[in-house]
Amino acid sequence: MATDTVITNATIVTGDPARTILYDSALAIRESAIAALGPTGAVLARFPGAEVVNGRGKAVFPGLINCHTHLLATADRGILEDFGFPTTLRFPVSARSLLTAEERQVMATLGALESLRSGATCLLEIADGVAGYAPALAATGLRLVLAESISDANPAGLREGAYEFEEARREAGFQSSADLVATWHNFDRGRVTCFLAPHAPETCSPALLRQVRQLAEEYGVGYTIHLSQSRAEVAAVMGLRGVDPTHYLYANDLLGQRLVAAHCRYVTPPEIARLGQAGVGIANNAAIAARRGAAAPVRELQAAGCAIGMGSDNMAEDMVEVMRAGLFQERVRRNDELWPQPEDTLEWATAGGAKLLGLADTVGRLEVGQQADLFIVDTGKAHLVPTLRIVSAFIHNGQPADVSAVMVNGQWLMRDGRVLTIDEGDIVRRAEEIGHSLWQRLLQRYPDVPFPIRLPPGPNL
Ligand SMILES: [Zn+2]
Repeated sequence: MATDTVITNATIVTGDPARTILYDSALAIRESAIAALGPTGAVLARFPGAEVVNGRGKAVFPGLINCHTHLLATADRGILEDFGFPTTLRFPVSARSLLTAEERQVMATLGALESLRSGATCLLEIADGVAGYAPALAATGLRLVLAESISDANPAGLREGAYEFEEARREAGFQSSADLVATWHNFDRGRVTCFLAPHAPETCSPALLRQVRQLAEEYGVGYTIHLSQSRAEVAAVMGLRGVDPTHYLYANDLLGQRLVAAHCRYVTPPEIARLGQAGVGIANNAAIAARRGAAAPVRELQAAGCAIGMGSDNMAEDMVEVMRAGLFQERVRRNDELWPQPEDTLEWATAGGAKLLGLADTVGRLEVGQQADLFIVDTGKAHLVPTLRIVSAFIHNGQPADVSAVMVNGQWLMRDGRVLTIDEGDIVRRAEEIGHSLWQRLLQRYPDVPFPIRLPPGPNL
């Protein structure tokens, strides 16, 4: 039998509904699950052969859950943050689409590395061709929800502002999703699961949306869509369908408790009410929203009945930043200095995210019986002491560099600041080379497209 592990004398942020914090306490892990929580002496007595991890000066948090990301967008870092969405750069294809299969594995692993260094233990990854790098992602040890993006709109038409929906594209998308589910759903005793991912209201036909709902029920999986991500989307759906994006989804039977709607930046009061009535989960991607000059009406969505999770979306995978952005942004948006509290944003990024991803019985809280997905913060830092209110200290002032250990399913992915499942130096160096070569390739392919950035001559690693 695998050795039990007991983390002793730690501050334990349980993330339970009462938001209980245990001080100078212990957490025991047996195989993949949390087996005990309580006073250090009593827990050690129950697990006499355990490996003891000294938790003095440390705080243990439930692992962070990223409910919406595209890891390959790490290749666009430093560029696409600053040119709007849809991007004002006029290349006919995205840089990302030029990545080779091997480069995609490297960039996805880079994103996974950044994720786990920020305390993330689980992420919902959405992409075209996600199966190609799923083995590399699974090897990181992270808990994963994988989703193949499906759209039946002809992309050549979209660039011209024309919306042509094609059955062959729809069927190809469903076939890829079926293959993904067959290979990866419940892989490694459920550490990897799958979602369906119709891309967005303006790029999905009514036939596609209706089939997603049926297939999700058939496969027993959740599903996710971008919703109200841009004003261009809202205008396109109003023009094409005569209703707002939310009511287009409603009319085609997509709204439900298994739906994770990402963004929801421009939703109107009737849309908020409709989403709340349907019990839709919202991925609040606050950091990227702020970069886009936008904010989701989180308080209103939550009051209407929506469950709230958090996501990183594009270019950055830092969930510490995401939580802090979620707090800052909502206080600024409502001119409210009291809400949300740090405990609210932590809850969105832990138990809230678990609910959205259908994992509420599995992860999201440090409670006996939950899987041991957690991260450890070294609290002896100039920016964290005094630790009078550890959740507030970490949400307001914490950094990924404060995270010294990450565990998923009872397995250490990082310990003492060292990532155990990824060759960090190799991935960082290769990602630097790939990023430079990728953007040079794009510029060489489309020399006539204006590009306002002067790229450096080459990699710097
Ligand atoms: Zn997205």
